[in-house]
Amino acid sequence: MLSTTSNKFVIAPLLVLAAFFRPVPKTLSLYEAVEPHMGTLFRIKVYAPDQISAQRGFQAAFERIDQLDKIFSDYRPESELSRITQEALGHPVRVSEDLFRVAQASEQLSIGTGGAFDLTIGPLTHLWRQARQDHRLPQAEAVQSAIVRCGYTKMHLDTAARTVQFDAPQMLLDAGGIAKGYAADEAVMVLAKLGLHSALVAASGDLALSDAPPGQTGWKIGIDSFDRADKPFTHVLMLSNAAVSTSGNGEQHLNSGGKTYSHIIDPKTGMGLQDDVTVTAISRHGITADAAATAISVLGCERGLAYAESQPNLAVFILVKSDGRVKSFESARFQELLHDNSFKETGESDR
Ligand code: ADP
Ligand code: MG
Repeated sequence: MLSTTSNKFVIAPLLVLAAFFRPVPKTLSLYEAVEPHMGTLFRIKVYAPDQISAQRGFQAAFERIDQLDKIFSDYRPESELSRITQEALGHPVRVSEDLFRVAQASEQLSIGTGGAFDLTIGPLTHLWRQARQDHRLPQAEAVQSAIVRCGYTKMHLDTAARTVQFDAPQMLLDAGGIAKGYAADEAVMVLAKLGLHSALVAASGDLALSDAPPGQTGWKIGIDSFDRADKPFTHVLMLSNAAVSTSGNGEQHLNSGGKTYSHIIDPKTGMGLQDDVTVTAISRHGITADAAATAISVLGCERGLAYAESQPNLAVFILVKSDGRVKSFESARFQELLHDNSFKETGESDR
């Protein structure tokens, strides 16, 4: 066709020009830095042309994480997250883009999981935090009175005005199940804006990854069953432009009456989870993977896998330990990842 032919004339000289001006690719080396933020260690690995660019990247990424810590910390009474439930009681209040994004992602997940994930779980998590300190289960009445101060349906978001509003007094937000994943995403984005496109940001169990290391098909991520510290990983995934989050009992639990109660709480019962379950969620973004891992822990194996199968961009690996035996469960998307070795988005983006 005439138009195609004439395009060739235009494109060919442009290609020559592009080739002429393309910068000579520099060899990239791996640089690494660690800083404490959000009550954990954030580790950044980045491929950069030199130490100075890597250093510039680390500084910008850690500054962004620190900014988010100041917004989302529920240990700081002055944080936006701590203040907003009082300030926006009974009327809408405009919030930062970061707080709104996290509230919106949380609300979506609350709706999708029938309330298994709940950003307004603060009254319960504060109660259980105190219980862990006291090494004593919270009183049943205290649990009941905390439950009535929780509930995502008592939080109202207005996207156009970027406002939030709360219905009940003494509500509290807790972004502990989502903010680290979001911060890892944002750190990866800050690095990319500085031209550092191959990076891994890890906030203990929450990882966000951009492009694969040079010459490789992805970042090598090992996923393991517990009690196998001395053995090779059960599964190895090669991932890029993806996020991986693991939720489990970890160190934050309460032992009482021969039972173990997790720091993850079922919003319906107000109780810490008792099953020994470790959930690894893989998605395009950390905000989704982090929150989904927490939500699926609450849903439990069967309902958790059903939820994962309903989400086009979510892969899940679940380990359940009972009576000294470990069983593993994988969503279809997880099995695909094992064979395909890359995380490709299907359907609409999850963010
Ligand atoms: P970790 O903080 O160990 O990485 P998670 O991402 O699973 O683990 O988050 C657990 C944290 O999430 C808890 O410490 C608490 O702050 C918060 N949380 C607990 N239960 C819920 C829930 N049902 N919905 C939302 N957040 C929760
Ligand atoms: Mg989480």
